[in-house]
Amino acid sequence: MAKTVLITGGSRGIGRAAACLLGTQGWSIGVNYATNREAAQATVADVERAGGRAVAIAGDVASEADVIAMFDTLAAHFGRVDALVNNAGIVAPSSQLADMDLARLKRMFDVNVLGAYLCAREAARRMSTTRGGAGGAIVNISSAASRLGSPNEYIDYAGSKGAIDTMTLGLAKELGPQGVRVNAVRPGLIDTEIHASGGKPDRAAQLGATTPLGRPGSADEVAQSIAWLLGDAASYVTGALLDVSGGR
Ligand code: NAP
Repeated sequence: MAKTVLITGGSRGIGRAAACLLGTQGWSIGVNYATNREAAQATVADVERAGGRAVAIAGDVASEADVIAMFDTLAAHFGRVDALVNNAGIVAPSSQLADMDLARLKRMFDVNVLGAYLCAREAARRMSTTRGGAGGAIVNISSAASRLGSPNEYIDYAGSKGAIDTMTLGLAKELGPQGVRVNAVRPGLIDTEIHASGGKPDRAAQLGATTPLGRPGSADEVAQSIAWLLGDAASYVTGALLDVSGGR
């Protein structure tokens, strides 16, 4: 039976690229999304056109009930849960901390931190060999922001990704003896719609030009690192924070 992976925020951007690539590598894929059903269905159709298997799964990662239901749906469709790409994440318009309101801060940490922790917890419960699972792999999508701090843009976002790095280090140690590898990818400036959602559609192109490699990265380039970390080629890799940031 094909291995199955839940990709949170799998409908657009980096998650979508990971879904399309993993679909060609034999994975069955749960394409999670928050609100944009059309984009999720388009991603599922693309995976299927390339010969893969996928199902669109609605759910807000910040909701515990939704997260449990997302994993239940994946298991119901494909019979097992082997991996998680903890990818769903948000940014917000550039601002200094002094100007951020409580609602923004709460949503940032609810989605990017609590959501990622809830998804990792659910994956651990289902994949840990000491809890009846068959082992597996988790790839958390952090950001180069976790080590840059993102001053004057969004230090709330940067801090949320710092939490993802730390969760990766700790959970890798917890779950290593239980058959589950846990790693993180830290993308730099990647050409996706997330920058428009933060009010700067040209951000990746403009700042990407200032990186050592002189350009933004593509979602496909990040997907390659996700697929490698999920797969058997990375069988001795756990607790790694892999920068995919063009040297930034
Ligand atoms: P994106 O193009 O904006 O796509 C975001 C995806 O996440 C969409 O599928 C969206 O679903 C989903 N999503 C948003 N909030 C959600 C929620 N509460 N619950 C479930 N799904 C939710 O973003 P991206 O650029 O691909 O970013 C993916 C990850 O990479 C994020 O964690 C981001 O922080 C990280 N990252 C990105 C960059 C970059 O330059 N692009 C750099 C470093 C790190 P809907 O379509 O329904 O909205």
